[in-house]
Amino acid sequence: MILIDGKKAAAELREELKQEISQIKKKYNKVPGLTVILIGDMAPSQIYVRNKEKSATEVGLKSEVIKYPGNVEEKIVLDKIKELNKDDSVSGILVQLPLPNHIDKQKVIEAIIPSKDVDGFHPMNVGNLSSGYESSIPCTPLGCYLLIKKIEPNLSGKKAVIIGRSNLNGKPMAQLLLKENCTVTITHSKTKDLRAECLEADIIVAAVGIPELVRGDWVKKNTIVIDVGINKTDKGIVGDVNFDEVSKVAKALTPVPGGVGPMTIACLLKNTIDCFKRSQK
Ligand code: NAD
Repeated sequence: MILIDGKKAAAELREELKQEISQIKKKYNKVPGLTVILIGDMAPSQIYVRNKEKSATEVGLKSEVIKYPGNVEEKIVLDKIKELNKDDSVSGILVQLPLPNHIDKQKVIEAIIPSKDVDGFHPMNVGNLSSGYESSIPCTPLGCYLLIKKIEPNLSGKKAVIIGRSNLNGKPMAQLLLKENCTVTITHSKTKDLRAECLEADIIVAAVGIPELVRGDWVKKNTIVIDVGINKTDKGIVGDVNFDEVSKVAKALTPVPGGVGPMTIACLLKNTIDCFKRSQK
């Protein structure tokens, strides 16, 4: 079984991005900039944002974090986004989710100009991805896609089963694999026989949020299994896949932690650079 090392893949991607940034610097005499807006003091968001800022700086991006208290008025955030949309030194804008209840998430997502939407959540980017046009692609599914391609460069005709249909993970993942000519099945909480669907799959991407849902006898030999789940349990953080059982049958599997997670931030940096490059065209 191939243990897919997300930490190593992310380090390699960051190294490539570092090189790319130094070339950009030579060519344009400036570097792409990522601005993150953080609202409130939720501990996980603070940690994510700190990691994003650290990784961005390490690869040579210009990185800025704008912090607001949890009771900030929605208008203040929207006005700041408008300002950043017009700022040439900002290539990518990200508003860390979740937001406090009094702020309309969709309004915030749509306020970010699509060309700076490094999360790929703007409806324009969602539409572009599903139409097969160039777009920002949500970071976690993009990371999963790059890991799958490392194991199997030619995905044409493969049967992919995605577990979960969220806008964040399942749906964009399905679009990416469809673009690679996979036959894609999206499963969800109302799917009748999830095990039977999984047993058909050459590729399984589990993005559910249920600890160790995917069992060893759900997976046929030679299947690539990507575990997006991050679940806190009594025995620590586990994924959506039962690692011990599935590692005995799968062709390749991502561990949790150390699989998809590290790729998510690396892909955010990639998206920032890609936004910059598109803005120079
Ligand atoms: P979500 O709650 O938005 O969506 C979960 C999906 O799973 C839904 O579409 C639902 O229909 C489906 N589902 C629920 N129960 C099911 C069942 N019994 N059988 C089949 N499908 C079922 O979750 P999300 O935001 O997509 O996140 C999924 C998981 O991925 C979570 O554990 C989250 O923490 C993790 N996550 C990891 C990263 C990362 O960087 N590794 C990033 C984002 C999310």
